[in-house]
Amino acid sequence: MKVEMKVDYYPGDPGEFVRVDESKCTGCGECAKFCTRNVWVQDGKIFRPKNLKACVECGACWNVCEFDAVIFEEPKGGTGVRFEYG
Ligand code: SF4
Ligand code: SF4
Repeated sequence: MKVEMKVDYYPGDPGEFVRVDESKCTGCGECAKFCTRNVWVQDGKIFRPKNLKACVECGACWNVCEFDAVIFEEPKGGTGVRFEYG
C-alpha cells in the first residue's frame, strides 16, 4: 500500500512566538544563516524575526544563538511541525 505524507505547519495565529532580546543580540547573523525559512532579517546592528508566518517552529534559531538572544515560545493553539498522512 502506498502512503503519501504531507508536511504542513500550524497556519493559525502566529503571534510573536519567536522574538529577539535586543539587549543580548550581537548581530552575528547565525539565526538567519540557519533558518531555512528566511524568517530572520537584519535590522541595523541586530537581527529580528520578521516573517513568522513562514516559520516551521524548528527551533534552529533558538539553538544556534550563542548569546541567548532568541526567545522561543510555542504559538497559541498549535505546537511544532504537523505531519499529515493520507
Ligand atoms: S544568533 Fe542571536 S546574537 Fe546572533 S544575530 Fe541572531 S539573535 Fe542576534
Ligand atoms: S524556529 Fe526555525 S523556521 Fe522558525 S524562525 Fe527559527 S529557525 Fe526559522
